[in-house]
Amino acid sequence: MLQYLRRIVQEVNDASDLEQALNIIVHRVKETTGADACSVYLTDASARVHVLQATDGLRPEAVGQVRIPLNRGLIGLVNERAEPVNLADASQHARYCFLEETGEQQYRAFLGVPIIQNGKVLGVLALRKREAQTFEDDAVTLVMTLGSQLAGAISHAKTSGELARLQGAGSLPNHFLQGLPASPGIAIGTALVVYPPADLDKTPDRPAQDPDREEAAFRKAVAEVVAELDQFAQRMAETLRAEDRALFEAWRLMLESDTLIDGTIERIRQGSWAPYALREVIREHIRVFEAMEDPYLRERASDVRDLGRRILMHLEHLEAKPAHYPDQTVLVGEEISVMQLASVPRDRLAGIVSVTGSTSSHIAILARGMGVPAAMGVADLPVSRMEGKEIILDGYRGRVYVGPTPAVRDEYQRLLDDDRLLSHEIESQRNLPSETPDGYSLPLFLNTGLVSESRPLGIEESAGVGLYRTELPFLVRDRFPGEREQMENYRHVLEIFHPRPVTIRTLDIGGDKPLPYFPLSESESNPFLGWRGIRITLDHPEIFLTQVRAALRANLDLGNLQLLLPMISSVREVDEARRLIRRAYNELREEGYSVQMPPVGVMIEVPAAVYQARELARRVDFLSVGTNDLTQYLLAVDRNNVHVARLYDELHPAVLRALEEVMIAARIHGRELSICGEMAGNPLAVPLLMGLGIHSLSMSAGSLLRVKWVVRSLTRTQAREVYSQARDCEDSDCVRRLLLQTLEDIGLAGLVRPGK
Ligand code: PEP
Ligand code: MG
Repeated sequence: MLQYLRRIVQEVNDASDLEQALNIIVHRVKETTGADACSVYLTDASARVHVLQATDGLRPEAVGQVRIPLNRGLIGLVNERAEPVNLADASQHARYCFLEETGEQQYRAFLGVPIIQNGKVLGVLALRKREAQTFEDDAVTLVMTLGSQLAGAISHAKTSGELARLQGAGSLPNHFLQGLPASPGIAIGTALVVYPPADLDKTPDRPAQDPDREEAAFRKAVAEVVAELDQFAQRMAETLRAEDRALFEAWRLMLESDTLIDGTIERIRQGSWAPYALREVIREHIRVFEAMEDPYLRERASDVRDLGRRILMHLEHLEAKPAHYPDQTVLVGEEISVMQLASVPRDRLAGIVSVTGSTSSHIAILARGMGVPAAMGVADLPVSRMEGKEIILDGYRGRVYVGPTPAVRDEYQRLLDDDRLLSHEIESQRNLPSETPDGYSLPLFLNTGLVSESRPLGIEESAGVGLYRTELPFLVRDRFPGEREQMENYRHVLEIFHPRPVTIRTLDIGGDKPLPYFPLSESESNPFLGWRGIRITLDHPEIFLTQVRAALRANLDLGNLQLLLPMISSVREVDEARRLIRRAYNELREEGYSVQMPPVGVMIEVPAAVYQARELARRVDFLSVGTNDLTQYLLAVDRNNVHVARLYDELHPAVLRALEEVMIAARIHGRELSICGEMAGNPLAVPLLMGLGIHSLSMSAGSLLRVKWVVRSLTRTQAREVYSQARDCEDSDCVRRLLLQTLEDIGLAGLVRPGK
């Protein structure tokens, strides 16, 4: 059975359109189960009918003609129950309804299985037999499995308009595909589909005829890619801010790293031709990155893959095909590379839609940096059928409309116009203090470090750095960065923000083999609950001590350093970390450096830390809530998994209760409490955080002015009132409604909700 199943699934996947897929299913199911007829009925929700869409066994001329009201007959029963209905003699059932035009009167047994996706019944697969005998379990499970396969194809067809055409409808319903909102804004444009330039996975293993020649070709290809990168970096120089441009530098480092170059050459020397040697080395790198639990670090796997493909393309002497870019290009792909993004002239790039990736993918980061709307993780997007299609992308909500109706287009055109006006107004907040109308100040800090810095945007606007993520330098090198190297890096940040505080978070990597040069454990089945953050660094005090020493030395004569400990789940970890920090301080003093002890804080991002916030607050100088992780751990929802993305909600009442608990702890011990997760940069959440009395917020540069606008428009008294109402909410919809109303009342609804 399994063998049949695989074959049918493969055939369905290879079908060129839905009609063909449906026909394959009905023939194969009939053949495999021994049924006398197999048919597919699809739900047409707007006409409230089930349409017979394919059959093998009923009269072919009935296809497309038979339209049964949704609540009628056995097909309607399967839909209502959303479970299989297996009857020995259909005609005996109260819901049986006789349809002469199908010729079904010759059959007695009936099996109906719903085709379901995301809880919605998209149609029904119906089997019939002449004999009065229920279907065997095997047949039922086979049909259920195929039904779930078909659900994907049906939903693709719905999106691309194919289903509407099949069902004879004139225009498409207002159906949209849901992804993750990765960069705000609206785009109305034309899809341009991008594919990987060269396929590493298909590169065969061949012996190297002439290793010297292979090596020379490989080196030449790498040099060409380096030159190409420089060109792209130059081209994007005007549109990207410095920290994002620095990504190119990171790739360059990766390209020139010993592990890549020497690793490949070594394999060539062992007898492989260059493309295969490259493929194996790139695969090793990808495996290491993909195993990481930290989302933005894991995203580097796609950078490595992309670099590998580029080199391969040069090796194969393939030329990137010159594309014609529509005026309003919406770049669409399974996985869009940064190079593909860089190839689009900036004045033509309207938006980005990717099937894979998350809000912390590099493409998402770059999109935000460039101010280009983007949706990532749009899992149901039928990429191969998207070329040239009209697309509306709502980057605020991660929605994608394909071939929208005129009404949807008009609505979004209006929103787009509003948006243009709005960005003008947001700019007017520049250089104004972050202060409420009743004189309460709420300092706004910057989250940075995600890409290498030269001069991060937002320096002038921010009160300092609330979260400096230190992971990057550990990843772009092929060994641990040393004390001096780290010190120079931290010194640079401390200097440019001086005298404003800079909060450096100690290393927060994790997963099984987080660094190519530091293979420490076997792969973890649950990396988010595994060895990460402080757990790793306390197990390896040498890494922690080097980092702390570097930070303390960087702070010499400056005094604006603060240290922040990630992933704390017990007081022991804090005591241990503080002991090591004290040790680093004493050692440096003994060595003659007049270093100071910096304020030390902990991140509250694990439920255990919420419930022990008082014990933690007593031990440290400040607290900072990482709402990204806290939300995922409280709600048990993977922050990067698109299938559960709609359950991930920082406005969940449980998150608010947790914040309140932490606030109480901070007050009892007189500690400052900051929020440094994405929630702090969400204008919608700001009234709540203000009402709760949070002392400061830390966010990415793009959010500073929007958040400041909310702070400057709402009194502290109003915010407290909003918060006390939110406390009574039992679900996040209630909280969200309340907050939307609040922003509407102060005239700022446009900041988060561009319309409908
Ligand atoms: C968080 O978890 O909210 C946070 C700020 O840390 P990161 O996103 O780096 O895990
Ligand atoms: Mg975190």
